[in-house]
Amino acid sequence: MTYNTGTSCANCDCSIVDVRTRVIHSDLVYCCANCAAAMEQQGSGSDPHTLSTAGEARCSHCGSVIRDDTSMVMEGDQVFCCTNCARATEPASGATRAP
Ligand SMILES: [Zn+2]
Ligand SMILES: [Zn+2]
Ligand SMILES: [Zn+2]
Repeated sequence: MTYNTGTSCANCDCSIVDVRTRVIHSDLVYCCANCAAAMEQQGSGSDPHTLSTAGEARCSHCGSVIRDDTSMVMEGDQVFCCTNCARATEPASGATRAP
């Protein structure tokens, strides 16, 4: 089997390592349905800030509103839209996070 490594989400740009949650819309690839929905709303709406809805869970990495919780990943007190975003926040080489 060959996987197209190096594919990244068209919305949040994280590397898509888990293709189970991947969503492909024509020539755009998203890490999950949540990013696909977020991108399509931003594309058609004029003010993305109206998207902020209190009470809705958002991905700690990309900020997409999590509508599809089947791909959701929870780690500690953080929630991610999918495995790909969860992995993207893991400390990689050169990644620094100030407290
Ligand atoms: Zn994404
Ligand atoms: Zn995602
Ligand atoms: Zn995310």
